[in-house]
Formats: sequence, C-alpha cells, structure tokens
Amino acid sequence: MPSRSHPVPVYVLIGDPVAHSLSPVLHHAALAQASLPGRYEAVTLSTEHFAEGLRAMRAFRPQGVNVTIPHKVAVMAHLDGLTEVARQIGAVNTIFWEGDRWIGDNTDYLGFLRTLPESLGNGSTALILGAGGAARAVALALRERGVTTIHVAARNEDAAAGFRRQILPDRLGEAQSLTDLPTAGALLSGCDLVVNATPLGTRGEGCPLTVEAVAALPDHAIVYDLVYRPRVTPLIRRARHRGLLALDGLDMLIEQAALSFERWTGHSPSRQAMRDAVLPHALLTEVAVSESRP
Ligand code: NAP
Repeated sequence: MPSRSHPVPVYVLIGDPVAHSLSPVLHHAALAQASLPGRYEAVTLSTEHFAEGLRAMRAFRPQGVNVTIPHKVAVMAHLDGLTEVARQIGAVNTIFWEGDRWIGDNTDYLGFLRTLPESLGNGSTALILGAGGAARAVALALRERGVTTIHVAARNEDAAAGFRRQILPDRLGEAQSLTDLPTAGALLSGCDLVVNATPLGTRGEGCPLTVEAVAALPDHAIVYDLVYRPRVTPLIRRARHRGLLALDGLDMLIEQAALSFERWTGHSPSRQAMRDAVLPHALLTEVAVSESRP
C-alpha cells in the first residue's frame, strides 16, 4: 500500500547499528535513475524498543522497509505474512505491503545466488562459515545451485550441527567448530568454495580462517566474503595472498538492494547506477580502515 499520507514515498532501514549503512546511497541512486520520487532513511531501532518502534513504523506507513542486524528474525513475529523464501530461511530483510497486509521477504537469498560464480554447481563442495541469518540464505542458494556437499563451521559447534540438521538434511557435509577448522585438512582440501557469513572482518577486524586453513584450500578454491565494509577484509587479503579468487560482499549488497527496490516499486533498477553511486563510499571506508590500523 503506497504511503499516501507522505508527500513522496518513504523507505526505511531499521536496525542497530545503521549509521554507516550504504543502503540509503544505493536506494537514492535507484530512485534517481528510475526518475521516481522518494526518500530512504536509516533509522536506529534498538532491541529494547523493537516492538513499540515497529508498531510506530507500521502506523507511519512507509512504502518499503529493510531490516538488518539484529532484527531479521525477531521481525517475523510482527508481520501478517511471509514469502516462501523468507519462511524457508527464517529471516526477513525486506517488508512490503500486499493490500493492508505487511509481508516479509528475504532478498539476501537471490542476491547471493545471482552473484555466485557459474562454475559452482552440481558436484561442488562448499564450506559456510557462520550459522546465522545470512548463512541460512547462503545454504538455500547453494542447495538451489545443486552444490552436493555443504560443510558448516561456526564458533559454537552445536549451532553448526543444528544448522546442518535443520537446513541441510538432504546434503552431505560436516559440522565443525571454527577453532578446529585449521586441523581439518581433508575437509578444507576438498572445498571448491568458502563463504564467510560471520561479521568477522568488519571494519578490518578479525578473520574467520587462519593462514594454515587458507593454505589447506585447493588452488582453484573461491573465497566469497559477505562482509563489504571494508571490501578488502583480512580474509580477502589472506586468500588473494595465497593466489585464490576472492569475492567481496558488495555485488550481493547491490543485488539484494535492487531486489528490494523491485518489490516496492515494480521497477528493475540499474545495478550499474547503484554501483557507481556506492563505490566512492566503499572506497572511503577502505581509506578509513587502513588509516585506523596501527
Ligand atoms: P547473524 O544472523 O547475527 O549471524 C552471524 C553469525 O556469525 C552467527 O553464526 C554468529 O555466531 C557468528 N558470529 C558473530 N560474531 C562472531 C565472531 N566474533 N566470531 C565467530 N562467529 C561470529 O548475522 P547475519 O545477518 O547472518 O550477517 C552475517 C554477516 O553477513 C554480517 O557481517 C553482514 O553484514 C553480512 N551480510 C552481508 C550481506 C551482503 O549483501 N553482502 C547480506 C547479509 C549479511 P553466534 O550465533 O555464536 O553469535
């Protein structure tokens, strides 16, 4: 339902923190390129005030809402319905109106699937690092692509095992703890793809794989880091130093934003216009992170 009470359609990102989100830049570029009126605001909503904040947001009737950390799961209980993808993933990053019903969707799934190299498919083996909302979207996308064996490693081994049981009962693979991973040489040497779906590497801090673990990967392995601030995370640097193809999270960020935009407006925005707008901001993060390093 359009936000009739607003002079121009309003789109909102809710999460905590959101101050450094690139979503406003991406969506304003999409609006401008499609010559559509509208504005996109990032709003900090703490867990403590989540329920009342979301009620107020609904009454405000924005045309579209994006949801980010830490509300992607909690928001589901407050909606009138879910798309099939959001239901399967168990997390929502996009809310849209269907008449008077507020519906939750998940565009991370297709955002990842569409940016996954074509070479990965039936017969491939993947390792997902992390067992949260993004990891669930990644797992479904890898299943959709036909990836045969999917290992999961998380800092809590039980969480990794639970994730595998719940999301990937039909796929081969092992559950590991991140701590034990460097000693899992046989597992690592069989991986065609490693996906980092933890926040490790954000602001240039932390790396989910040790040098030994990266060394154990085969020469053709691809490392895909969902973190996009900075684009060159410690994991990306480590993988490139080892000579591996390493992809950052910016393409997925653009694609999931474009898919949210399509949901809300019916327009397919130019990914190139969104990329052109966001690249200088991504570059600024790169500079800020490298300057903050001792
Ligand atoms: P989430 O639901 O909070 O899950 C995070 C996962 O990482 C959990 O398994 C968590 O383990 C683990 N984790 C958190 N801190 C850790 C640490 N210090 N060491 C090891 N593991 C840790 O978050 P999410 O929504 O899945 O997002 C994960 C990352 O993906 C974020 O950095 C996010 O920005 C990025 N992402 C990028 C895109 C994109 O478009 N590029 C889209 C979605 C997400 P516990 O359960 O033990 O806390």
